[in-house]
Amino acid sequence: MTSGGDAPGMNAAIRAIARACQYYNHQCIAVIQGFEGLINGHFKELDARGVRNIINRGGTILKSARCKEFRTVEGRKKAWENVQKHNIDGLIIIGGDGSLTGGMIFQSEYGLPVVGIPGTIDNDIYGTSRAIGFDTAVNTVVEAVDKIRDTASSHNRLFFIEVMGRDAGHIALNAGIAAGAEEILIPEQDDGIDSLIRTLKYGKKSGKSSSIVVVAEGDKTRDNVFNLASQIREELPEYDVRVSVLGHIQRGGRPTYYDRVLASRMGIYSVEILREGKSNVMIGVDLDKLILTPLKDAVKGKSAINKNMVRISKILSV
Ligand code: ATP
Repeated sequence: MTSGGDAPGMNAAIRAIARACQYYNHQCIAVIQGFEGLINGHFKELDARGVRNIINRGGTILKSARCKEFRTVEGRKKAWENVQKHNIDGLIIIGGDGSLTGGMIFQSEYGLPVVGIPGTIDNDIYGTSRAIGFDTAVNTVVEAVDKIRDTASSHNRLFFIEVMGRDAGHIALNAGIAAGAEEILIPEQDDGIDSLIRTLKYGKKSGKSSSIVVVAEGDKTRDNVFNLASQIREELPEYDVRVSVLGHIQRGGRPTYYDRVLASRMGIYSVEILREGKSNVMIGVDLDKLILTPLKDAVKGKSAINKNMVRISKILSV
């Protein structure tokens, strides 16, 4: 099942799970549209050939959903009835921390073995240094910022570029460094507007004719990027200030090699974990090794921002 926000690479994980099931002689049943499909009994059998030509496609062929009913005892009871009807004896959930929480609760109520695979462009899940989709999203943002920089430098403009990350600055921080942003504003670090103004003034004085500021959605400097830009326009009238909100282009697109390989490894491992009788864990990656974290820890924690990356970004923008 894929659940929560879609992320590029989910299809590669689905493909790997279906093929690992065939390899080990298990039946693979896909749940369509996340927990909603589990409640409505919307299932489809997948075999190795049924997942051809999807490794290169963004989104999820199984569709995804946010399902309020699964948050209720009654909703989960309906889901359990469908699980029994179809003789399902293990559930692999590819999704964010909400989806893994749902899986954990379902396992605790009915004892169905559950394995989680982190799939979210936000990369905010504890227990893995990378979630499926993050690498692709960062590359998409870098490409977009590179293009905006062409305009910024041709017209001596200051661009505020808002990227996804309501609670986590991983996309902003990594894409900002890779695209050479002058400032990166993230929810985890609030240096205040004065610090931003100082940096921009210093940049102007030191000969910068254009600037890029990458702003995560959840940045707290102002309530939103447009108000932030307005205030900077007032404080620094010498700048021609523009705003660009990248929005949903960050979710889609062909997964990078990294996301495809990570998803393939995690997909196969999830089937092997269930075969070994392990459950209630999330697969993660640390220093290129696959690791397991109990679901209860994975959903409670948050993957912290790398403070050294914040320090590096300051040095690079001098
Ligand atoms: P993303 O990181 O992209 O937002 P997510 O998996 O965190 O993905 P959520 O919308 O938080 O996305 O959760 C997806 C679904 O998981 C919810 O719509 C709901 O069906 C289920 N879910 C989340 N939290 C719970 C919970 N506490 N109890 C039961 N089900 C839950």
